[in-house]
Amino acid sequence: MNITKRKPDWLKIQLPNTADYKWMNQTIRDNKLHTICTSGKCPNAAECWAAGTATFMILGDICTRACKFCNVKTGKPLAVDTKEPLRIARSIKIMKLKHAVITSVDRDDLEDGGAGIWHETILKVKEMSPGTTQEVLIPDFNGLHHLIQKVIDAKPEVVSHNLETTRRITPIIRSRAKYDISLDVLKYIADAGVVAKTGIMVGIGETEEEVLETMRDAYAVGVKVFTIGQYLQPSKEHLPVTEYVTPEQFAKYKAAGLEMGFKYVESGPMVRSSYHAEKHINALKD
Ligand code: SF4
Ligand code: SF4
Repeated sequence: MNITKRKPDWLKIQLPNTADYKWMNQTIRDNKLHTICTSGKCPNAAECWAAGTATFMILGDICTRACKFCNVKTGKPLAVDTKEPLRIARSIKIMKLKHAVITSVDRDDLEDGGAGIWHETILKVKEMSPGTTQEVLIPDFNGLHHLIQKVIDAKPEVVSHNLETTRRITPIIRSRAKYDISLDVLKYIADAGVVAKTGIMVGIGETEEEVLETMRDAYAVGVKVFTIGQYLQPSKEHLPVTEYVTPEQFAKYKAAGLEMGFKYVESGPMVRSSYHAEKHINALKD
């Protein structure tokens, strides 16, 4: 694998400052919402928002887990906000989004893991914006199939669950999550006849063969869409980057994934699991 030690030019991009960007930011603040686009200072925001896509985080902004790469706050979450589904749906309507990506913190403190709010949110978005497609990036719900089914029952177009990394690295950087449980979640989604999607980060010590093995594992359980992006360290307290993977290596992964049979592979330094999400939907319709 080609390794670059200093942050390379292909990762140096400026946050947007356009009128549309400011308006979206204000709408998100006015509705007391959490988006990965803004909280993660995602460099793709201008492109995604112009394409009519954004990623919302539901069930609050405090996670019961503490993965070493993740910038989300960890601790005891606040009580569930039953008005959240309506606020999310209203914002998606105001923003006229063509494709909404919804994710959540993990809520191991709740008996249903938050599946009820997930279900209501998807239905409320459908009711208020029937033309908007939805992709839901769900937690593992501790592998409990009936909770995953509750989300599927609301009929989102794509259900995604991230493997995040390879089998070997999973116990080192993911909190509580198990590689085989995540694979089982993906298998359950695919077996239910829904488009299953997953993603990983690279640049945290994995080998090329381990990445390919992860892709093969995902393909074997029925995953249709696979994303690969560069891990970037959110702060000094987080897991360090071990390497900046070159665009050529990302292209190699993409070619390998398409060769394996995935319908869509998004692989590049700036890729996040929701990047070009609207294109995945269109590709799957073809
Ligand atoms: Fe938002 Fe995802 Fe696009 Fe980043 S890649 S701006 S998080 S939709
Ligand atoms: Fe972040 Fe998800 Fe891990 Fe929670 S479970 S710390 S939101 S990656």
